[in-house]
Amino acid sequence: MPFIEVARYYEKIEATSGRLDMIDLLKKLFVETPPDILDRVVYLTLGSIAPAYEGVELGIGEKLLLRALSLATGISQDKLEKKYPELGDIGMLAEWAVKNKTAQSFFQEDLTVNKVYDSLINIAKIVGERAQDAKIRTLAGLFSDAKPLEARYIARIVTEKLRLGVRDMTILDALAEAFLKGRVYRDKLEKKYNIFPDIGRIAKIVAEKGMDGLEEIHVTLGIPIRPMLAQRLRSAEEIMDKIGPKVIAEFKYDGERMQVHIWPNGNVRIFSRRLEDITEPYPDVREFVARAVEGHEAVLDGETVAINPDTGEILPFQELMHRRRKYGVEEAMKAYPTVTYFFDVLYLDGKELLDEPLERRREILLDLLKENEKAKVVEYEVIDNNVSELERFFEQAVERGTEGLVVKDPKSQYQAGVRGWSWIKLKRSYISKMIEPVDLVVVGAFWGKGRRAGTYGALLMAAYVPEEDVFKTVCKMGSGFSDEELESLPKILEPYKIEHRHASVISNLEADVWFVPQKVAQVLGDEITLSPTHTCGWGKVKKDAGLAIRFPRFMGWRDDKGPQDATTEKEIIDMYKMQLTTLPDASEVSISEKR
Ligand code: ATP
Repeated sequence: MPFIEVARYYEKIEATSGRLDMIDLLKKLFVETPPDILDRVVYLTLGSIAPAYEGVELGIGEKLLLRALSLATGISQDKLEKKYPELGDIGMLAEWAVKNKTAQSFFQEDLTVNKVYDSLINIAKIVGERAQDAKIRTLAGLFSDAKPLEARYIARIVTEKLRLGVRDMTILDALAEAFLKGRVYRDKLEKKYNIFPDIGRIAKIVAEKGMDGLEEIHVTLGIPIRPMLAQRLRSAEEIMDKIGPKVIAEFKYDGERMQVHIWPNGNVRIFSRRLEDITEPYPDVREFVARAVEGHEAVLDGETVAINPDTGEILPFQELMHRRRKYGVEEAMKAYPTVTYFFDVLYLDGKELLDEPLERRREILLDLLKENEKAKVVEYEVIDNNVSELERFFEQAVERGTEGLVVKDPKSQYQAGVRGWSWIKLKRSYISKMIEPVDLVVVGAFWGKGRRAGTYGALLMAAYVPEEDVFKTVCKMGSGFSDEELESLPKILEPYKIEHRHASVISNLEADVWFVPQKVAQVLGDEITLSPTHTCGWGKVKKDAGLAIRFPRFMGWRDDKGPQDATTEKEIIDMYKMQLTTLPDASEVSISEKR
């Protein structure tokens, strides 16, 4: 398949501002693509060459790209560097350079998808002393053959800045439309994707075999399962009402979620909540887990916390983050020792366990895991129809330095990728009646004035709506930043900048600058109020009104979360409703509404 056909679709996708149009374009692209290369086209469309969890990094720096471009076009690097700020985008620069090239290429061949993909794989895999030169030569080869439009997208893909804003969920929609007779089968497709999130391979399978192909997809060691997530409620009583009378209450450790895949030979791979491979920084977790389940094939779900080596106390999440590093792993391991608490087993010795009830999975876990000092089973209690017992266990959890409890329905299945009501968290911050921080996506920005001239005065923040795969705005956030953080905003957000509002952003406000919804920040507000401006919860609490977070403050970036992990519209609505039930009297509601 000629790459130019794909590039033409990218151009159209980039220009569209409607999500349905985007799905329609993707559907057409997928139908036109020969099934045997559909996986490749899907990865490329996501700006990558492999599923995210494989951690294949293209990451060509801009300097390197300019060298390749210069080599291919005969335009000096100097000239390219001067032209770059004028065009402001690496893709546009490559397009311009190819259009205006002075070098003649005698054996110019049309680029195919396979040629582009294979070259990119080569670029990612070349290592060793002369790696840089070899990467430049391969890339220059591509640019020599590329048409201007092709060059635009090749340059963006290799620098990891494709920014089409197409996400896995949109691809699933398009696949269902293209190969599964529409949206009826979308759920089944998503269920398979949740246990096998290699969207490229899934695409190829449904294109080749339709629905039947999906039956071949199973939990596979080395391929992460999307984690099950929890809902929240504010009191032990509400939780009992919701999923009682019998519950399994577990400590909620404030650490890093880890899905651990173990092979019988002791090989271990660890995946994060976002399915990144985080095996390397945690040799200690690997060693102790392998010892605890020796001789088995298993997939375990758990949380790793940092502990104070002197006192054994559990330390806050921020301390554990010192372990997320490529270099100095040994030193960090000594300074920040860990314990992993396992709360689930999803697969054991060839058998998928997701559909077994939790109480059965717990028995299997207890049988399987030979606890040691660093690999343990979660601390839990089975509580039967007794709210005060649940409250007591909660207090105990808080006293032990955890965030509270995750209370689970013993009969529930493991719903991969789903935030359902079978797991409910009870955190200490809800009890103290503060609004807990939310995680919102940056979708736009407004230029600052006065002291803030030259940087952004406020960011437009949005919540995620998984049902529609869109982002709805909920506040403008301008406080909580240190001076340095404020100054660094334009640079941090530069990679996500786009010309117009992104197709998946629903906003009544016109921002000065728009972004691809990608970067997630933790935000703490005073309260949630009705809003005539913001689109989050529009019409769902009150006709012609949305919800806004009042006095939002920036608490830090949540680079461990992607846009789809952000707080959802529904959670914001629930938080708003919870707040109403705990406000002392109705007059407060009307005051905050009037303001
Ligand atoms: P939070 O910011 O509250 O951790 P989250 O959005 O990261 O929320 P949730 O699914 O809402 O994730 O909350 C559950 C999280 O709590 C899990 O992702 C996991 O990292 C952590 N956790 C700690 N202990 C447990 C436990 N016993 N069972 C399930 N999750 C636990």
